[in-house]
Amino acid sequence: MIVLLFDIDGTLLLTGGAGLASLRGAMRDEFGVSDPFQVELSGRTDRGIAAELFARHAIENCEPNWQRFRDAYLRQLALELPLRQGSVLPGVLSLLGTLSARPDVALGLLTGNVRRGAALKLEHYRLHSYFAFGGYGDDHSHRDLVAASALYAARQHLNSPHRDVWVIGDTPLDIRCARAIGARSLAVATGSHPQDELQACEPDLLLPTLESADDFLHRIHTIP
Ligand SMILES: [Mg+2]
Repeated sequence: MIVLLFDIDGTLLLTGGAGLASLRGAMRDEFGVSDPFQVELSGRTDRGIAAELFARHAIENCEPNWQRFRDAYLRQLALELPLRQGSVLPGVLSLLGTLSARPDVALGLLTGNVRRGAALKLEHYRLHSYFAFGGYGDDHSHRDLVAASALYAARQHLNSPHRDVWVIGDTPLDIRCARAIGARSLAVATGSHPQDELQACEPDLLLPTLESADDFLHRIHTIP
């Protein structure tokens, strides 16, 4: 089996700002932080983002506060997703359709989103049914550890041993976490990182969008 681990934001879809608005809503509702802060989201985990916001606002980074934050964020996200003009990114539906028809390919997630947040986004954009397992941002601040848990989930899910693993993502951190678990990386420049920045991180393959995935399909077809 070939295991393909997909990032969500900037790779499969864009939420039109629902994610940031929901983080702000959670900080406002639970912790009284009313300023419309900016925070780097790309390639990071929800747990890591929360830790940074807690540090910035002198909030203790403890389990109860994390759970308050997560629950408020998820309530906001369910409200925000239908209000925003997000989209499934070009080529995604066609590629997932092609890949899901292949008996030698297993599709999973490798995302910094918490598990329920990933489900809300994928359900809203009708992509949820393609993915049977994944690694999520509930427990780990560091993406490399999410990658390890995605690989573990893949092994639990598959009955047969895998012969190749690819991580598909839109940020330098996706490329790095692929390397951390001995996987290949497909970088796609549909998020906030341009092609030259991604190329500098030396992914195994780089595409402008997933519309031009013929090279990728050829690669996963021909690797022994
Ligand atoms: Mg991303």
